[in-house]
Amino acid sequence: MNYKAPRGTRDIFGETVLGLNLLEQKAKEIFIRHGFEEVRTPIFEEAALFTRSIGQTTDIVEKEMYVFEDRKKRKLALRPEGTASLARAFIEHRMDISSPACKFFYSGEMFRYERPQAGRYRQFRQIGAEIYASSSPAADAEIIILAQQVLSSLGIDKINIHINSLGCEKCRPLFREALVKYFSSVEDLCEDCLRRLEKNPLRLLDCKIDSCKFTDVPEMSDYLCSDCKDNFSIVQLLLKKANCNFTVNGKLVRGLDYYTRTVFEVRSDAVGSQDALAAGGRYDNLIKEIGGQNTPAVGFAIGAERALLAAQSVGFFENLKSPEKIFVAIADQELFSEAFTFAVKITRDGINGNKNISVFGPINGKSLTNQLKFADKIQTSKTIVFAKTEFENGKVLIKNMKDKTQSEIELNKL
Ligand code: ATP
Ligand code: MG
Repeated sequence: MNYKAPRGTRDIFGETVLGLNLLEQKAKEIFIRHGFEEVRTPIFEEAALFTRSIGQTTDIVEKEMYVFEDRKKRKLALRPEGTASLARAFIEHRMDISSPACKFFYSGEMFRYERPQAGRYRQFRQIGAEIYASSSPAADAEIIILAQQVLSSLGIDKINIHINSLGCEKCRPLFREALVKYFSSVEDLCEDCLRRLEKNPLRLLDCKIDSCKFTDVPEMSDYLCSDCKDNFSIVQLLLKKANCNFTVNGKLVRGLDYYTRTVFEVRSDAVGSQDALAAGGRYDNLIKEIGGQNTPAVGFAIGAERALLAAQSVGFFENLKSPEKIFVAIADQELFSEAFTFAVKITRDGINGNKNISVFGPINGKSLTNQLKFADKIQTSKTIVFAKTEFENGKVLIKNMKDKTQSEIELNKL
């Protein structure tokens, strides 16, 4: 075949689909229990929305966005993340009025032009949640606890939650200044670091090339103003009270410019070098920045593919329950329409109260042997055979395809 899925994309099928559905279902249940409402935003937006919110000098905007022009020369971009779109929708629909609790979640495809590797794709899924209009540190703690609960519902309990505070517009400039001063004294910075030094010095802290050179680098914790300090300690207190283990990591920064105060990342040893399963934090200026009212906000996103990789390593997939496969066969061709009607009935009503079934057959014009061969091939657990003599007595045969035993049962009992 000449065609392949584009680099960095994947076809999702088989048990991965089951895993993904279960992950989304579990996340949704947890979000709803926490009072969150679902929002679905478009897969593409005006490119400027992302440039403005994520930040001009970030990796995402500089090199990872899929930007294109439509026929009317509008500059659009496939969404690289969910927060900016949700914030746009929140402002556009005055959701502060329609949903005054201001708690929302989403799940869907994101697109980033990255170098593909295990756990890093160009099209991937994120499941995320945001709380708007609350500046309370309790909202930060709730968001972190949510991330932990969703992962734990997949059996992923061995996680490390790293948290940090990036301060606010009052205290961050001093830290920034200290960083610029510090980095200017480091020799042989890489190209990216040199370019970002003036515009976005925080990003140097997590440079994959240079960060090992940075010893005694200034830490935000020494620069936090008293409000930010208090805030950060309440977040920590609430997490401790909720038995949510975390590590304060003074070097944690995030790849998006909109964060203020609390940021966090959930890491797992189970998924190799792409170890961040989820990430998020507070972004009190974003909504105003893109044209809304001054609205504090905090949120996070889980990377579905990475969460599934971690879930797989703890045996989560072994518990996935596929529907029971049932085949309806005919020993006599003239019973086809009866068998067909029965197959339709059980797809609607289930069999013995069990609706978690997949029904196959009947197949017209094939010998019973061939029908049974097919039933074996698709690994059905039961085959229900319509045969003339039994049918005339209101009965059918049930074949257990595993141990090959067979019994008769009255049709109206199924
Ligand atoms: P990383 O440092 O791993 O690139 P990031 O800082 O770009 O992550 P966010 O934008 O905060 O990540 O996204 C939240 C989560 O989404 C990540 O923790 C990760 O699990 C997942 N994620 C991000 N980019 C990708 C990708 N290209 N492929 C698969 N999952 C991804
Ligand atoms: Mg990234």
